[in-house]
Parts: sequence; structure tokens; C-alpha cells
Amino acid sequence: MSDKRHIDIDKLINLGSFEVSNEEKKQFEAGIEDFLKYAEVINSAPCNDLQPASHAIQKDAFLRDDNAKIWEHMEGLLKNAPILEGTSFLVPPQKGRTGKEKEVQENLSIKEVEDYETVIGLEVHAHLKTHSKLFCSCPTEFGNAPNANTCPVCTGQPGVLPVLNKESVNMAILAGIAVNCKINKKSVFARKNYFYPDLPKAYQISQFEEPICSGGWVEIEVDGVSKKIKLNRIHMEEDAGKMVHVGAPGIWGSKASAVDYNRSSVPLIEIVTEPDISTAKEAKEYVIMLRAILVSLGICDGNLEEGSLRCDANISIRPRGTKTLGVKTEIKNMNSFKAIERAIDFEVERQKKLKKLGLPIEQETRLWDESSQKTFLMRSKEESHDYRYFPDPDLLPLTLTDELIDSLRKKVGESPLDKKRKYQKDYNLTEEESKLMMVNPEYANYFEETLKLYNNPKNIANWFFNEILSYITQEFDKFHITADDFASFLKKIDSNEISGKIGKSVIRKAFDNKKSLMEIIETEGVKQITDTKEIENLIDSILNANQDKVAEYKSGKVKLFGFFVGEIMKQSKGKANPQVVNDILKGKIG
Ligand code: ADP
Ligand code: MG
Ligand code: ZN
Repeated sequence: MSDKRHIDIDKLINLGSFEVSNEEKKQFEAGIEDFLKYAEVINSAPCNDLQPASHAIQKDAFLRDDNAKIWEHMEGLLKNAPILEGTSFLVPPQKGRTGKEKEVQENLSIKEVEDYETVIGLEVHAHLKTHSKLFCSCPTEFGNAPNANTCPVCTGQPGVLPVLNKESVNMAILAGIAVNCKINKKSVFARKNYFYPDLPKAYQISQFEEPICSGGWVEIEVDGVSKKIKLNRIHMEEDAGKMVHVGAPGIWGSKASAVDYNRSSVPLIEIVTEPDISTAKEAKEYVIMLRAILVSLGICDGNLEEGSLRCDANISIRPRGTKTLGVKTEIKNMNSFKAIERAIDFEVERQKKLKKLGLPIEQETRLWDESSQKTFLMRSKEESHDYRYFPDPDLLPLTLTDELIDSLRKKVGESPLDKKRKYQKDYNLTEEESKLMMVNPEYANYFEETLKLYNNPKNIANWFFNEILSYITQEFDKFHITADDFASFLKKIDSNEISGKIGKSVIRKAFDNKKSLMEIIETEGVKQITDTKEIENLIDSILNANQDKVAEYKSGKVKLFGFFVGEIMKQSKGKANPQVVNDILKGKIG
């Protein structure tokens, strides 16, 4: 094939009906000659001697000789068994690793001299609030008996087929719109292959090369300064089951391990940032904001402790001002906003310490341990090609219509940050109050519901933050005082039907007795006495009983006015309208 005499250039040109000049013909000839030369080199390459590589494309299958031998690294493998330290496991991937780990942990107080900057990228997993799982109709309900929410699909039985949950797709799109992503009209579900007992299929269905959303950003405010954190993607995937280890906190050292597949295949979205976050505080503010966005969309309940929102932090350091990314470690197991901040701060210090000790930073996955406030090695990090991703042959590519995307776009309301700014600027709420509303979309919803019925935002905020909120101990959406009830209550305060002081006791009683505010006002007789006749009678009886004091008052001891008011209020159990009392009393004793 390398012999160009076999190729008749003129005949080719004729066959193709090409209209070419002599110059062009010469170029064409030279091009073909080059191509044939390369083809010959490639063809004669000694393929059979090449080691098979993970992505090599070989002409023929590689065959090995039939020699049996015990795997020579068996002993080394056992040496890598986990070591228990505190409540966490150390998994030394190499010999002698534990010693080094200890040295670094214990030397954390050494002062850092070099100037490094921190680079952080976050991967946030959010449980979607669908009723059923991602690929089957099992309920997603939390807290049911172990394995009650399972079927052949989510326990990976042979021969079953996954069927995608429409609502989970809608929710993923809503999230993408709210964080300014491009929504991809075609996305592909892939199999991410690994073996672990919580993954019965031995692969997780996830999106890989073609996710449902790409790009985007989340705006945050840190110490009053705004920053847009760039996003890489949002993809959909299924959760794994949950392992429970008997007699130890982890698999190693436990007598037995049980697995609960209720969580298996619960729908998740994973929101991945670019390595665009520079401090632990920024990371915390980002997660707070993302949570607020997802909760206000109604697609995630945002519970970090229960794991419906989980954050993994990828962290590296590099000399300040340089561009190349350093080797990263990934931190898992942070169950609160505070833990996210602390874990990142700790990890940055640990990496700087390694540099200081002249030790390499190794790519690995580490666990945050809340009790010791440290990170511990969990496993040396795998690369994405280790998972042998490939498109799931059981699922067709997901295609979305413009109509669907547009209709969902209309459902995305004002962002929590815009709300915060509006509350501060238009409603005169304090920075602190506005931020609390932003961080807790459920407060903002309640606030806005009340505002529709009672148009005094400042008053609502005062009573809400100072009184109502102080009684709420359980989950906010389970508390029983409706916005309607709250608005009626505030109106009664404004019209002097009840005093501020009594208002506070009404709220306390409503919480104590699990009754509405209006019920308490009706049944407990706490309404203010504004009936002037009734108040006048009361005043007369007080003045009658204290004639000596009335005389003293009249002879110039004007301070006694307060004494009379006090007596009247006491007699009326605080229910007499103070203004009416003042007016009548003045009329009577001058
Ligand atoms: P992996 O395949 O290990 O999960 P990805 O490329 O998917 O890595 O990135 C995961 C997350 O880590 C992303 O949020 C990304 O921005 C972040 N990241 C990647 N490289 C670095 C680095 N060197 N330092 C800090 N964060 C990084
Ligand atoms: Mg990743
Ligand atoms: Zn199922």
C-alpha cells in the first residue's frame, strides 16, 4: 500500500470530477505521499510488544500465556488494612504512611513562612424532594423500616430496567436555571463502576460526559463584598444504600455490617464548582447560598445533618500569584456549615505543614472527624478513568424540549440574595434580619405570606424575630401559627385591642397550648378594655379608695399620677387601654 505507483492521480481527479490546476494537482500528490508514508510507519509499529494501557486502541485482543502464580503483592495488600484512630480509620495506602501522618498531625503548630494561596472546588450532592426514586417507583421517604422502600430495580436484580422519574428531571432543570447554567437539551446517563455492598448493581447510574446542566454561577457576599462563584456543571445521579456497622464506627473492627437499601437510587443532583473559591469562609457562604437557593425552589430540604445536602471539598495550595493548580485532597464527612469552614482551615494548614516538612502533598480522599477536629486519610484518590464510565445501554439519552425548559424558567422566582437586598432596601430590615431571611427561605416565605395580609414589614420582622422565632424548637414548617393568624394578631396590636405586653403573653400561651393566636385572644379574655365607661368606673373606685393620696396630689405632689395609673392597670390585670386611662384620669384630677 505504500507504493504510490498504484495510485493514478489523474484517474482520481477524473473520477471525482475535480477541477484542479497543475499546481493544485502537485499539492494533492504530495499530500497523498505524506499520508502513505505515515500509514506505513503506523502499520509497521511493534504492537504486540506494547503493554496494554487503559485507553489503548489495539487491533487485536491481547492474549497472555497460561502461567499460574500467586499474586506477589498479597502480603503488601494485607498490610494496607485500615487502622483505627479515634472514631476514624486510617487507610495507609503505602508502607510507613501512618508514621508520616502522625508527624504532620502533631506538628500543626509550626509557624508557616512561605506565602501560599488556597484553591477550593466544591462538589455538593443534594437529595431531590421527589416522592419516588430515580429509576423505580419506590418511595423516597426517610425513616421507614430498613429495606421497606425497595424493589427489584433499586436492589439491582438481574433483568430489570430503569425508568427515569420525570419530576427529578424537572427539579434538576429548575436548579440549573436558578444558578445560571446552560440547560443541555441532550444529556446521557452513564454507568460508574465500582464494587461496594451499598451498591447492589456494582455500578451507579450517573451523568458523566454529557450532564444535564453546564457552566453557571452562584453569587455570594463575604463581608459585604460580592463574588460570583463559577460552576462547572450539574449532573443527575442515584444515591447508594446505607451501611450500618455493628460494634464499631466503620467496617473495620466491626462484628458485622448491615445494609439498608432504602436510600439506594434516591435522586440526587451534584453541583460542581470550578476551582474558584479562595477561603474557607467563601466556601461556607457558597454552601449557605446554594442551600438557600435549592430550599427556596422547593426541590431539596437542605438538611446537612441528615445528609440530604452533602458537601465534599477539594483543596489545594499554590505559591501566591502562580497559576498552576497544586495537588488536591478531597474532604468528606462535614455535617454542618461550621464543619465545612473548620475542615477546610485545618486541611489548608496540614498541606502547608507538609510543604514545610518537605513532604509531598498526595492526591487522596480524607474524612473530617468532628470529635478531634482533624482530617484523616480515608483512601488514596482514584481517577475518573478508574471507574470505567460508559453510557448506560438501558437508558436512552435524555432529550429536553424548549417548551419544557421555558415553562420551568417561569417557575424560578426571585433569588434569596435578591430577596435579602430587597428586604434591606425596600422594607428597612436590618442586615442581620435580611440575612436570616435569605439563609432560611422558610422564614422568608412566612414573612411574605404575612406581608400580603398586613402591610408593615418592619413590625412583622420585629414580632417574628423577637417573639415567634424564640418559641420554635422543632422544624420550622411544622409550627402551627399560620401567616393569616399572625397577620390578624398584628392588626389587633395596631388597633390597641391588645397591648404589646399582652401580645407577648398571647404568643407564649399559643405555643404552650398549641392553639392559634386568635383562639387565645378570644378564650383567655386578654382583649384590652377600651370601653370608656368600664374604665371610668374602675378609676372612680381607685380614687375613692385613696382619697388621702388624691388630696396630696391636688396639693402639688404630681408624681402620684403614676401611682394612680399603676393601681388602675393592676386592677384591670393590664387590660385597660393606657391611653384611655390617662385621658380619663387627667379629666378627673386635673
Ligand atoms: P475528580 O475527578 O477528582 O472528582 P474533578 O475534576 O471532577 O475531579 O473536580 C472535582 C472538584 O475539584 C471540582 O469542584 C474542581 O473545581 C475541584 N478541583 C479540581 N482540581 C483542583 C485543585 N487542584 N485544587 C482545588 N480544587 C480542585
Ligand atoms: Mg468529581
Ligand atoms: Zn425500587
